[in-house]
Amino acid sequence: MFLHNKKLQYTVRVSEPNPVLGSLLLEQFGGPDGELAAAMRYFTQALAEDDPGRKDLLQDIATEELSHLEVIGSIVAMLNKGAKGKLSEASMEEAELYRSLTAGGDSHTQSILYGGGPALTNSSGVPWTGAYIDSRGDPTCDLRSNIAAEARAKIIYERLINVTDDPGIKEALGFLMTREIAHQKSFEKALYAIEENFPPGKLPGIEKYASVYVNTSRGAGDVNGPWNSGKEWQRIDDVEASIPVNGGDGMASVQLTEMDQIALSEMASRTQSQISLNPTTGADLGAGPGAGRTKKTARS
Ligand code: MN
Ligand code: MN
Repeated sequence: MFLHNKKLQYTVRVSEPNPVLGSLLLEQFGGPDGELAAAMRYFTQALAEDDPGRKDLLQDIATEELSHLEVIGSIVAMLNKGAKGKLSEASMEEAELYRSLTAGGDSHTQSILYGGGPALTNSSGVPWTGAYIDSRGDPTCDLRSNIAAEARAKIIYERLINVTDDPGIKEALGFLMTREIAHQKSFEKALYAIEENFPPGKLPGIEKYASVYVNTSRGAGDVNGPWNSGKEWQRIDDVEASIPVNGGDGMASVQLTEMDQIALSEMASRTQSQISLNPTTGADLGAGPGAGRTKKTARS
């Protein structure tokens, strides 16, 4: 079950309303790398997790992400307070109110449609979707995905910190950003606490292909690094000479029943291209006024 504590995880002090900044901050409320996506990613993983340690970790972080959702949503609500009151009470002259709503970003939608929000959208008003959650139900896949998700969330917070000079918001965003660093560290530890974490899953992979680097992009700009060179790697530079890697004729084939074969060959003969024909087509004839013209000449 969930219990709610009325105190925020971090005290929110906003200097003054700023609906444009509010619309930018929605990126971390209802965006792909935002707090709702994080909470739902870890919450759903926790439900299915059988390992007691990972289940506890996922429940802790999922619940903290909901607390972050509350913090970022509270900041957005404070930033929209001014516009919300003026709009619902019509306490401003129309032109002035119009200007205050169209100051930029997605702030007009946030005011007109959502009444000051916070709405579960990203900073462009795109509604939140469960498609942001990419869990696959395997801990070595999902922990890697969680590590990447925390990395992305950290970067989005960093960008948001760089667009505001409000000291209270900067501080709160800095706290939220830092918690994503801590989460990334926990997920990295949890991944490497699984002794057999690479490759993901149970099947080991086919040994002769597992350490091959295929240099498919050729020419100036080829770079050697630890990702493609050294004793760990078997390089293939002459790619054309190496295919098909399993021998054979490199063509695709399938065993068909006699009935399937007959139907396919009938279709092939019915739709065969006659390469000796040069048929007159609608484009040659002119299908209507203007058709077939290639320059501006008067039609007679
Ligand atoms: Mn968070
Ligand atoms: Mn996090």
